[in-house]
Amino acid sequence: MQRNTIIPNDDTIPCIAMRGKPQSMVTDTGEAKGLEAVLTERGFNTSGKKAKCKPVCLFENTDCCLARILSRQADFVNQISMLEESITKAGHICLFLPKFHCELNPIEMVCIFLIITNSQFLTLDHAVLGLCKIPVS
Ligand SMILES: [Zn+2]
Repeated sequence: MQRNTIIPNDDTIPCIAMRGKPQSMVTDTGEAKGLEAVLTERGFNTSGKKAKCKPVCLFENTDCCLARILSRQADFVNQISMLEESITKAGHICLFLPKFHCELNPIEMVCIFLIITNSQFLTLDHAVLGLCKIPVS
């Protein structure tokens, strides 16, 4: 669920009267508003648009679907996720790794280290597959 936000005070928001105003992401009854309601309040014309493109559309797209329009709004782009906030509040550091680059994941580096230093238990095949496998015996 999205958090309440402040609508960006810039010309990306069609409804001038809404610029810089707070926007709740839930209805008066506490239910999530949904993409269409959020965008309509901001003055976007949502008629005929799908919630999301399938397959997922390109990030460079600007208004192919409701999800893409909202994903380009500055307040949503800069919002810290609830997951990240929870982790940070607990005193931990939250690091998001680049998607599709498992070689940068620290667990992969640990696997490689284990393979190199303890090769009797681990094989290069495991490293190639990105798996660490330690025998039970
Ligand atoms: Zn799209």
